[in-house]
Amino acid sequence: MATLEKYEAVIGLEIHAQLATHSKLFCGDAASFGAAPNTHISPITMGHPGTLPKTNTKAIEYAIKMGLACGCDIEKDNYFARKHYFYPDLPKGYQISQHTTPICVGGKVSIKNSEGEKIIQLNRIHLEEDAGKSIHDISATDTLIDLNRAGTPLIEMVTEPCIHSAEDAFLFVTEVRRLVRWIGICDGNMEEGSLRCDANISIREKGDTKLGTRVEVKNLNSIRNIKKAIEFEIERLIQITETGGTIIQQTRSFDANNDTTFSIRDKEDANDYRYFPDPDLAPFHLTDEYIKNIQDALPSLPNELKETWKQLYSLSDYDIEQLCEHKEEADFYIAWTKQTPHYKAAANWILGPIRGYLNESKHSYKMLTSAIPYLVQLLDLVESGQLNFSVASGKVFKAIMEQPQSPLQFAQSHNLLQSNSTDEMSSWVDQVLAQNTDKVEAYKKGKKGLIGLFVGEVKKISKGKADPKTITQILEQKLSK
Ligand code: ADP
Ligand code: MG
Repeated sequence: MATLEKYEAVIGLEIHAQLATHSKLFCGDAASFGAAPNTHISPITMGHPGTLPKTNTKAIEYAIKMGLACGCDIEKDNYFARKHYFYPDLPKGYQISQHTTPICVGGKVSIKNSEGEKIIQLNRIHLEEDAGKSIHDISATDTLIDLNRAGTPLIEMVTEPCIHSAEDAFLFVTEVRRLVRWIGICDGNMEEGSLRCDANISIREKGDTKLGTRVEVKNLNSIRNIKKAIEFEIERLIQITETGGTIIQQTRSFDANNDTTFSIRDKEDANDYRYFPDPDLAPFHLTDEYIKNIQDALPSLPNELKETWKQLYSLSDYDIEQLCEHKEEADFYIAWTKQTPHYKAAANWILGPIRGYLNESKHSYKMLTSAIPYLVQLLDLVESGQLNFSVASGKVFKAIMEQPQSPLQFAQSHNLLQSNSTDEMSSWVDQVLAQNTDKVEAYKKGKKGLIGLFVGEVKKISKGKADPKTITQILEQKLSK
């Protein structure tokens, strides 16, 4: 184990997110994943002579959405450039990308690690088209090429070299994945390649300000692998330095079989891509009004919701974190709490019985939204002590889900409401105490823990109708005599 204490890791990430548009960035071919190979490849995708690309404005809108969500400056004057290189899965011989004018400049994403909140500074977010896919693992002798992906729209997010641990990189990518899903610009599925990450890693002695020589680990396709690759590289770079070696700037790949990385090529410092503005694509100018409309349509972001819920609803950090995990759940909570004052109880219901039910039933929050008026009533019944929680979540909730209906009527017709009659409860308590004279004796001698057992017995006799709080009060009163 190398001496980590002496060194600081410096990490900059490049994340490619495939935009969830219907069609590609410069033509009408479907941008969807999973079609039969080479079926979404019009002459424009193939770069045939005489074809003319046309920019998909939805992709521009999505890139701006992400930029605004991250607090970037939006560049108003944009153009696309050709980045030339040869690769079999790049049919045109160049990739259309933004070069010196990324559409979003600067910005930040905040993460929360064990030490607290941390800001990850972004350098830029730019638009570009994806290449096709070379497939090496179907045939033993040939590489197969699927060009469906060629020309699909991507944003590339580039951070400043301001990340200093594999853990923070992990949290950052997790947050980015949540954000792209939250604002609906990318499905975030790393297994399908919708979100891919390159990690640039260097080390330096603590206190140094100059950046060390970096290596770049390409195409990490799971958040876990990003963390593993960075951990491995930091260790490897320290080993090299500690044993007197020289780090060379390299492009590497991750081997998920043994959590190591291997070199693909030594990186030439200045690739000459012969960038020039694509003459087939008109530069585009964004008006303030256009940008403002996108800003206005942006949903409340997790961080904003967290603030509001903490202040207005006094929810715990844990509850808030959980409720902001998925937008559909947060939306459902927002819709529900518009109609009920029981904020904390609604959160508990979502994180408990509702999640459980959705897991089992494969229903979605969308389907649940129409039941909100009944759920509002259900919460009132529980919070006012008329229905106990386990009966409410076990029987009544499920009944409402199966068939939308008034929880009060259902509970009444099935005789499930808790008894508010002190006489009735008092007689249940008397029964239980009479049946357990030895335990009553023990309780009076000091085994106060037995109260729970008595409460349980009364609940049983009452078939769940007795309110535990009231039973406890009556029991304590009778036992103190
Ligand atoms: P390139 O276009 O060659 O990939 P960039 O300058 O755009 O290079 O940087 C790509 C990423 O690498 C950025 O996230 C940047 O922060 C990061 N990076 C650059 N230099 C270093 C370094 N010495 N150590 C760690 N990360 C670095
Ligand atoms: Mg790079």
